[in-house]
Amino acid sequence: MTVTVSANVAGSWINGAAVVTRGARHQVINPATGDVVAELALATPADVDTAVASARTALPGWAGATPAERSAVLAKLAALTAEHADELVAEEVSQTGKPARLAREFDVPGSIDNIDFFAGAARHLEGKATAEYSGDHTSSVRREAVGVVATITPWNYPLQMAVWKVLPALAAGCSVVIKPAELTPLTTLTLARLASEAGVPDGVFNVVTGAGGDVGTALAGHRDVDVVTFTGSTPVGRKVMAVAAVHGHRTQLELGGKAPFVVFDDADLDAAIQGAVAGSLINTGQDCTAATRAIVARELYDDFVAGVREVMGKVVVGDPNDEDTDLGPLISTAHRAKVAGMVERAPGQGGRVVTGGSAPNVPGSFYRPTVIADVSEDSEVYRDEIFGPVLTVRSFTDDDDAVRRPTTPITAWRPRRGPATSTALSGRLGRFRPDVCGSTTTSRSSARCRTAGWAHRDSARTCPTTRSRSTSPSSM
Ligand code: NAP
Repeated sequence: MTVTVSANVAGSWINGAAVVTRGARHQVINPATGDVVAELALATPADVDTAVASARTALPGWAGATPAERSAVLAKLAALTAEHADELVAEEVSQTGKPARLAREFDVPGSIDNIDFFAGAARHLEGKATAEYSGDHTSSVRREAVGVVATITPWNYPLQMAVWKVLPALAAGCSVVIKPAELTPLTTLTLARLASEAGVPDGVFNVVTGAGGDVGTALAGHRDVDVVTFTGSTPVGRKVMAVAAVHGHRTQLELGGKAPFVVFDDADLDAAIQGAVAGSLINTGQDCTAATRAIVARELYDDFVAGVREVMGKVVVGDPNDEDTDLGPLISTAHRAKVAGMVERAPGQGGRVVTGGSAPNVPGSFYRPTVIADVSEDSEVYRDEIFGPVLTVRSFTDDDDAVRRPTTPITAWRPRRGPATSTALSGRLGRFRPDVCGSTTTSRSSARCRTAGWAHRDSARTCPTTRSRSTSPSSM
C-alpha cells in the first residue's frame, strides 16, 4: 500500500513552512512491508544554510521572550501533540515498523510527557551567586540561551529523540535546526508543524531531511551554529565531533551502547529469564540500552540458556499493527544484513546459536529472536553493538569474574524477591563502577517493558543549551 504524500512531507520544514528542498527525491519505506510510506525531497547543504540563517534570524525574539511566554507555547505544543497522538503513532509505526502497542504506550505518550516537562522547565532557569565578591562590584551568574542548536538524531525512536533534543533547547530560548535520520523523518516533520501551530515563531524550529554524510556534515560543521548535539552510533559521533571542532562548537554526544546483564547465583531465575528476553528484544533490540550481553553465574547458566531459548520461542514476530505482536522488523534490509552477518560469524568465534539466527521468509526486514551462548570475550557479537534481537550469553564463576567481565558498561539484574537476596545484591551491585552503571528498570512483562541502561556519553552530561554568563558589575 502506498500512502498518499501529505503536505508536511514536502521535504523539510524551514522558517515555519514545509519546503520542497533542492536535493534528490527520497522514499520512506515501511520496513514491515517494504511499501513506500512517503516520498519527499531531501535537503542540500544550501538548504542547511537557509535553515541555519532562519534559526539565527529568529533567535533574538525567542531568546528574548519571557519564560512564561515560552512555557505557554510549549504547553500548547504538548496539548496539540496529545490531540495528534494517533497520527504520530501511525507515522512512527509505518516508518520504523515498531509494534503499534509500543508506539502507543511508550513512544508517543512519553514524548507528550517530555514536552510537558520542558514547558515547565522553561520557567525554572536559574541564576546564581549574586553577591559583592570584590569591593563595590556586584557579581552574578545568569543563564541565557546559547544560540542556534544543530541536532542530529537516529532512527530507533525518531519522535522521542527529536523531543529530547529540541525541547530543552526551545525551553532555554534557543532556536534549532534538526536533521532526523533519512529513514525516519516523518514524526519530526509533524512535530515541527505542530510547534508552528502552537505558536513557536517561524524559524525557531527547523527540520532538514537528508543523509548524514552530506546534510549532517553540513549542519554539524556549519560555522553559524553554536551547539551541536548528536545521538547515534559511536563511529559517526566521532566524525560529528571532528567537524564540529573545526569551529569550536560546544558538542554533546549520546552514542552507542552494549549493556551487560549480570545474573548472580542467588537471582530469581525465572524473573531473570523474562527480564533478559524483554531487555534484549525491546524495539527489536534497536535500543542503545538493550541488555544484549547476559553474564550468568555458572550454577544457573544451563537453565538460563534453556529458559531464554524457550521464552524467545514464544515471542510473537509479525505485523506491527497486530496487538499480539511483540517484535517488529529491523529498520531496513541493509541493517538486517549487518545483524545477520554478525550472527553468522559468531560460531567461527566460539559462539553457539541456540535459537533464531535467521530471517523468516516473509516480506519486510524481520529477523528471528536469537540467542548465542558460550560467546567468548573477544568475539564480535559480545564486543560490538549488534542493534538487533540478539542476546549473547556467557558464564562467570565468581563475583570477581563477573565484575571484571563487563569492561564496558553494565546493566545489572536486580532480583526482586526476598530481603536476603536483596541484601546480598546491594553489596554486589556496589562493586560495579557507579559512573558506568545506569538505572535498570527491566520488568517481567515480556517485550512490553523497557530497560534503561548505560550508553557511551560524551561532553556535557547536562543540557548544553543554556550558558552561564558572569556579570560584574551588575546592572540588575
Ligand atoms: P548513526 O548511523 O550514527 O546515525 C545517526 C544520525 O547521524 C543519523 O541522522 C545519520 O543520518 C547521521 N549521520 C550519519 N553519518 C553522519 C555524518 N558523517 N555526519 C553527520 N551526521 C551523520 O546511528 P543510527 O544507525 O541512526 O542509530 C543507531 C545508533 O544510535 C546506535 O549506535 C545506538 O546505540 C545509538 N543511540 C544512542 C542513544 C543514546 O541516548 N545514547 C539513543 C538512541 C540511539 P542518516 O542515517 O540519515 O544517514
